[in-house]
Amino acid sequence: MRRDLTLYLITHDLGVVAEICDRVAVLYAGKIVEIAPVNTLFKEPAHPYTQALLRAVPNPLKNIGKLNAIPGTVPNLINPPSGCRFHPRCPFARPVCREREPPLVEVGRDHYVACWLHGGG
Ligand code: SF4
Repeated sequence: MRRDLTLYLITHDLGVVAEICDRVAVLYAGKIVEIAPVNTLFKEPAHPYTQALLRAVPNPLKNIGKLNAIPGTVPNLINPPSGCRFHPRCPFARPVCREREPPLVEVGRDHYVACWLHGGG
């Protein structure tokens, strides 16, 4: 039976997300950095943080003994980084990333990303 209701699930468990969610919003340091239908998010992650998160999921068949952790540390939210909050940990950061917060822009059907690599300004 289908019911007309919305359930918000807040979790770090991407396995649970893959199983039960229709649409996903990825947050980093309190900001939404990517929104997409769940299949799109797992097949075509566009934000460097989402990509890093998916690489960090342990896969016993691929990365035995090694974990692809995201370098750096979570920022202090009392004094968050300027511009894109992910810039201190992002391998693609460039000067604009430190200076200006990227807007959320549509990069595909119902797929939104906040990253200067995807335009927006
Ligand atoms: S805006 Fe810049 S620092 Fe932020 S995720 Fe994109 S490339 Fe990396």
